[in-house]
Parts: sequence; C-alpha cells; structure tokens
Amino acid sequence: MAKTGELLKAKDIIILDGGLGTELEFRGYDLSQDPLWSAGLVQRDPGALAAIHRSYLEAGADVITAATYQGSIGPMTEQLFAELVRIAVSTRDKFVQDHQAEIEFVGAPKRLGESLDSPTGDDVNDNINAPRRQQRKWPLVAVGMGPYGAYLGKGQEYTGDYGEVSKSTLIEFHRRKLEALTAEGIEPELLLFETIPNSLELAAIADLLQQQNQKQKQPTKVWLALSVRFDKNATPNGHNQVFLADGTPLTSAESSAASNSNSSLEPQFRALAPYISAIGVNCCPLDKVELALTELGAIFSQSSMSALSPTPPLLIAYPNSGEVYSGETKTWSLPTTQNNSKEGLGTGNAATCPNSATCNTNEANAEEDCGWDLAGNSQAWIRKGARIIGGCCRTRPADIAKLRKTIGDRLD
Ligand SMILES: [Zn+2]
Repeated sequence: MAKTGELLKAKDIIILDGGLGTELEFRGYDLSQDPLWSAGLVQRDPGALAAIHRSYLEAGADVITAATYQGSIGPMTEQLFAELVRIAVSTRDKFVQDHQAEIEFVGAPKRLGESLDSPTGDDVNDNINAPRRQQRKWPLVAVGMGPYGAYLGKGQEYTGDYGEVSKSTLIEFHRRKLEALTAEGIEPELLLFETIPNSLELAAIADLLQQQNQKQKQPTKVWLALSVRFDKNATPNGHNQVFLADGTPLTSAESSAASNSNSSLEPQFRALAPYISAIGVNCCPLDKVELALTELGAIFSQSSMSALSPTPPLLIAYPNSGEVYSGETKTWSLPTTQNNSKEGLGTGNAATCPNSATCNTNEANAEEDCGWDLAGNSQAWIRKGARIIGGCCRTRPADIAKLRKTIGDRLD
C-alpha cells in the first residue's frame, strides 16, 4: 500500500508538510468548537483545506497529509472521511499539472498518474532542445490516522489517558476508517498512524495490521509516529529517557521510575515490526527529537527485530513548535520554564520559540527571530538516521520551505 519504494532512494530524505489544523487557525479559522477540528471543514469550506495542502506542496513537501487526523467514522460518514483524502489527492494532482512544464516529477506511481494527461512530462523530455527541467519527487498523499485520543477530544493524544477502553474498541476505531476508504474505492498511497500515545492502542494497531495483511497478497506497510514524553529523572545517571505519552517506557532497559508500570513497548514493537516501514515521533518539542530517534533506532536495529522485519523501519520525525496544547481551552501556549522536565520541555527552552504565537508568521525569515529552527535541527536528526522529516502543530509553510532549502532535493 505504501509507495515509499518509488519515493525513496538511497540517502534520500522525504520532507513532510507542517501543521494543518493550526495553520487554518493562523489563517483565521476557528476550529475550537468543532469536534472534528480541521476535518469538519470538509463540508463547510473544502477550499480552505486545499489551499493549505497547496501551500505545503509549493513549500516543497514530498508528502502531504489529508485532514483525516480528527475524523472518525460515526462522528462523520464514510463518504466525508474519504472526501478528505480526495481533496488532498486532487490538490496534489492539480499542483503536478500546474508545474509539470518546469518540474520533472520523478517516481510517480503509474496507477496514480493515470488521471493526468502527462504525469511524468515525457512529451517535454522527448524534446532534446528543451532546457533540463528541475527534478522533484512525485508528492504523495498520506492518510492521517489519528489516535483514539483525538476522537476523545480533550488532548488525550498527549497523555495517553484513555480511561477504561478495550483493545477491541481501539481496533474497531481504526478499522472503520480503513474500511471507509475501501468502501469509497480509495487505495491509500500511504497510511500514517500518528500521535499515538497509548500502549494498548499500539497493540490494537498491530492486531489490525496483521488482520489486514492476512487478507492481502502484498503486505500493508504503514508509517507510525508516536506521542512521547520525556523524563530526565528517570535513571540514576540523569539522562533523559523516552516514554510513550501514557508513561510506558520504550524498552525494559529503562528505569520505571517515571512510570507506574514495569512493562515496556517491546512486545508491541515486535508485533508491529513486520508491518511498519517507518517509525518515529511527532508533535513533541524539537529539542527532544534526537533523543527519541536514538532510542527508536537502537530498538529497531536489534537482531531480534531484524528477524521480524529484514528491512528496518525508516526513522521519522515531525515535531511541533514546542508550545503546549490545552485540551480544556483547545489552545496552544508557551511552556512554563519552571519545573517543566516532567512535561518533556527541557530547561531553558533554547530550541523552542519564545513567542511563536506572534513571530511565527508567513514571512520566510520569521523563525530567525527566535531560537526555534526546524531546518537547523534537522541536520542532527539526519545524522541519527532520520529519513522522513516535517513539522506538526504550529509549524507553518515557511518552516517547510526552509527545511526544503536546507536539505535540498537529494534526488539521486
Ligand atoms: Zn501536532
């Protein structure tokens, strides 16, 4: 299902888009009263969603994510859920059409290009006198598979606190979204399970993917981004440690000092390994990404893991602005500098924007006014093996444009 093979070559970096719901809010849309958040615009103002997808494509994103994050079946119909994906796909197709004279889009899945007159621009290539066009990856559309916590609607994607919920409920929550796409004739180019904060939900996703794969000849590969928290006091040596947002340590090697449980995510990771082609973190402070990637890279390079998945998953990271979300007020605000280590925001906030609510404008150099720098920090992540990089909440098209400029096209 995932078309990463076409998109990704050796040493290549894939650039994701940035925040969508928060970008709508930057542009004046009030989503705070809508339980479906950005997904609610599918009927009220689909053009607003398309405009933001387009902004990220123009900024250089290789992957845009449909506004499905907060959408689920029940609160919205199967048709409207699928329509969110269609909006993103048609925006991508239009973007490719509009630019194919000056850009050669490479790696287009043939099936996806059929609707375009000349998806790879072969007619232009045939003209040897034509100036060599710039190359760029064919942009893909990911279906954002938000967590059950997003459906609960009180910011539980950052706590993993689901209360009493059964694994079968969590499986069904995600299954219905996949079935909606199938019922509407959509074969996802890429599935992106994101901001997953709960260990039982990870087990549920693993079960669902196993069931899906039993029905298919080709294994479904998905990308998975975790919602994590950090605790510098977790071990005697004072190193930061990474936990799933619900407090479960990533590995049993970590102290459980910050967790009420001695369990770890190792069983879930083993169950997921055959089905995920990328794993990482999203919507966390950017100064914590390197630590999380280091841990995940070590876990998935273990020989016991490679036995389950011969190709280790790529590392993925798309942090937020460093601001903190309140599920009660549905607003983002700067973290308090006092006693924030438990909340995973580090000390001093050197890498978080001190006033991003005001300075993070659409101006290309906006982020130079503060310490927050997605592009600058991305170099360290790439050195740790990150291959898929973008932004999450409160990041903007200007951030992605700078990331594109810093990383370059990296086409082989
Ligand atoms: Zn986010």
